[in-house]
Amino acid sequence: MHFPITRGIVFQKQVAAVKAVDGVSFSVARGETLGIVGESGCGKSTLARCVLRLLDPTGGKIVFDGHDITNLSRAEMRPVRREMMMVFQDPYASLNPRKRVGFTIAEPLEVNGIGTAAEQKRRVQELLEVVGLSPEHYNRFPHEFSGGQRQRIGVARALAVNPKLIVCDEPVSALDVSVQAQILNLLKDLQREFGLTYVFIAHDLNVVRHISDRVMVMYLGKVAELANDRELYTNPRHPYTGALMSAVPAPNPALARQRKPIVLQGDVPNPINPPDGCRFHPRCPRSREGLCDVDEPQLRELGADHFGACHLPLEHWPMSEEELKHPAEPSILTT
Ligand code: SF4
Repeated sequence: MHFPITRGIVFQKQVAAVKAVDGVSFSVARGETLGIVGESGCGKSTLARCVLRLLDPTGGKIVFDGHDITNLSRAEMRPVRREMMMVFQDPYASLNPRKRVGFTIAEPLEVNGIGTAAEQKRRVQELLEVVGLSPEHYNRFPHEFSGGQRQRIGVARALAVNPKLIVCDEPVSALDVSVQAQILNLLKDLQREFGLTYVFIAHDLNVVRHISDRVMVMYLGKVAELANDRELYTNPRHPYTGALMSAVPAPNPALARQRKPIVLQGDVPNPINPPDGCRFHPRCPRSREGLCDVDEPQLRELGADHFGACHLPLEHWPMSEEELKHPAEPSILTT
C-alpha cells in the first residue's frame, strides 16, 4: 500500500510515495489469532485496513476464505463485508454519542437487511448479554458507560452479523490495565464460543502475547519477524524484536537482572525515503557496514514456524551487550 505524494493543484503529478506497507505477505488460519505488533507508523493499521478492503491496496492480493477479493467492486464486497468486521481502538470515538447503543449495535443488521425490527432488537439484547452487559442497557447512550463497557459495545457490534474474521485495531490501548485483561479474556471466550479468527493489532508485546497464536513484528512497512507465540517470546531472532522485548518489564527480579536493555538510537526513519539495505540498520546495534546498509534482508526461515528478515539474527536470548554488538559471521555468507 503506497500512498502517492502529489505536487501541483491542477495536474497533481506524483512526485513520491509513502510506502506504508511494502511487500508484506502472511496468512491467518481459521480459528487462529495473529498478533501484529510494532511502533506507531510501522504500517500495522494500514495493513488491517487493506485486509478489510477499507483501503484499496496499490499492489498484491488479498484472499479471503479461498476467494480473491482484491478487485471486487463495492456491490460485490457487500456480502464479504458481513464476514469480516473490525473493533476500533478508541471506544470513546468509535460510538456515535447521539445514538442509543441498541441502534449502534443493530446498525450492521440494518445495513445488511437482516431481520425485522423486533428480531433485531432481540439479537441486540442477546449480544449485550454475550459481551457481559445487561439487555436493559439497550436504550442507554454511550456516555452512560465506562471505557471498558464501551469497548464491549464495540465488540457486540462487530459480532452482530456473525462474522468469520474480526480485525481488532489496538482494542485495549485506550483502557486501564485491569480493564484490558477483561476485554482480552472476553475476546478469547468469544473466539472459543463462535470459532472466530482474529487479526489483533497492538504496539504492546505483552498485550499481543496474551491473545495470539502467532505474532508478526513489523518495522517501517515490512515484516521483521513472524513466529508462533512461544517461539517469539522465548527465542526472538530479529534485533528489533529483541529491543521490543527488552522494554517489556520482566516478571521477576532475577530475570530483570539478566536482561540487558537494548536501547535503540534515533527515531523511525521517514517512510517516504526509507534507508537502503535493511530498513532497521540506522538504529540496529548489530548493523554491519557493507552488508546491512546495502543488502536488504529477505524474510527467511530461521527455525520451525519461525521467519525473520535479518542477516545477523540473534543466537540466543537474552544476550549480553558484548554478544549483541559483535555478532558471529552472518549465516547468509557462510551457508
Ligand atoms: Fe540489524 Fe543487519 Fe539484521 Fe538489519 S539485517 S536487523 S541491520 S543485523
